[in-house]
Amino acid sequence: MFQKILIANRGEIALRVLRAAKELGIKTVVVHSTADADAMHVRLADESVCIGPPPSRDSYLNIHQIVAACEITGADAVHPGYGFLSENAKFADILAAHNITFIGPSGDHIRVMGDKIEAKRTAKRLGIPVVPGSEGAVSDEGEAKRIAAEIGYPVIIKASAGGGGRGMKVARTEQDLIRALQTASSEAGAAFGNSEVYIEKFLEKPRHIEIQVFGDGAGKGIHLGERDCSLQRRHQKVWEEANSPALNEEQRTRIGETCARAIADLGYSGAGTIEFLYEDGEFYFIEMNTRLQVEHPVTEAITGIDLVHEQIRVASGGGLSVRQDEVRFLGHAIECRINAEDPRTFTPSPGTITHFHTPGGLGIRVDSGVYSGYRIPPYYDSLIGKLIVHGRNRVECMMRLRRALDEFVVDGIKTTLPLFRDLVGNADIANGDYDIHWLEKHLAETV
Ligand code: ADP
Repeated sequence: MFQKILIANRGEIALRVLRAAKELGIKTVVVHSTADADAMHVRLADESVCIGPPPSRDSYLNIHQIVAACEITGADAVHPGYGFLSENAKFADILAAHNITFIGPSGDHIRVMGDKIEAKRTAKRLGIPVVPGSEGAVSDEGEAKRIAAEIGYPVIIKASAGGGGRGMKVARTEQDLIRALQTASSEAGAAFGNSEVYIEKFLEKPRHIEIQVFGDGAGKGIHLGERDCSLQRRHQKVWEEANSPALNEEQRTRIGETCARAIADLGYSGAGTIEFLYEDGEFYFIEMNTRLQVEHPVTEAITGIDLVHEQIRVASGGGLSVRQDEVRFLGHAIECRINAEDPRTFTPSPGTITHFHTPGGLGIRVDSGVYSGYRIPPYYDSLIGKLIVHGRNRVECMMRLRRALDEFVVDGIKTTLPLFRDLVGNADIANGDYDIHWLEKHLAETV
């Protein structure tokens, strides 16, 4: 087992990883920018190293400084959290070259899944259902027209190097297609330095359903069920739940087993999430994230398994602590992402939190790095906490969520709490009747 883990992240996820390490009796080192000297993860860690000024590229993305911090403190492993360097294959390779364990998959697996065309090709080879579309990159108009006609309109043009919902264009006719191809390709070139694009069938009303998987790196793979993350705004997840209100037991088992087998065949190591769009009973692979997800606590709630413990165990060569036939799914869980944002316009609302009171009681978990008197720096993303509620079934979970939201107090800044108080009282949400467009439509109607 590791002696000392360096956490290359900030905010709630740095604290989340720190807690897991403490439980396992492992010493913790955190790195931080000058803007985060007062952060909770810095206060609670055994050691901290300031690695640079506020901009992420000079601190949390500065590989050289992070490796130096490992060497100074003698950390033997790095947990990257999510975002920042968590899906940076070069970072994983550099750590390996320094004999420091990256708590995550190999650089090669990160690289394959980081390229969307390569990822889709790999998924298909592993027997995972994919969205019908071009086999690889599409360069000329003739080929694009032929493929679009074959799969049928509407189609979506996506950037091979895409991310964060950028570089995508929908085309409903052949005329649209040529324009979409040109704009998507030039946008992708400008945003990602790679103008390669591909074509997919555009699904009109899908849900976003993702499968949590784990590999031990030695040919074993398991799945921990799904999360339904269909409630999104601008491709950003807002509310996530498990189980999905749309799936039955048989569908859950079937897609879960397909993913677990794929992970085993791939020889994958650590936590991963295989993301699908789901429509009319069919799953369509969109991408795989090779890291811990923001919404991992809903899976923890229904399985009772600490995913960060598992990540650390697997990375240290200790294997998975559970077999597939030992995994049980108990009850229902919902996570609300609480952002420091205006709940109507979603503009960031940094500033000082004058009062912070979190709900408690059975089935309530709050993962947050903030506290009363904490000043939110304006440099990073606006997530200030996650409320995760667990109940024996979805109805109980929703009742508990409503109560928890009533208790939650964040003063001094604007937050998205009012949005969740609105959602928890909505009939469509109560019925689990929503797709990936539901939230934006709802927001447009309620302004
Ligand atoms: P990114 O990596 O940029 O987030 P994804 O491939 O994960 O890109 O897609 C992001 C979102 O775009 C999806 O959650 C979905 O809302 C939409 N999308 C992607 N592909 C399709 C498709 N074939 N049909 C309909 N919507 C899609």
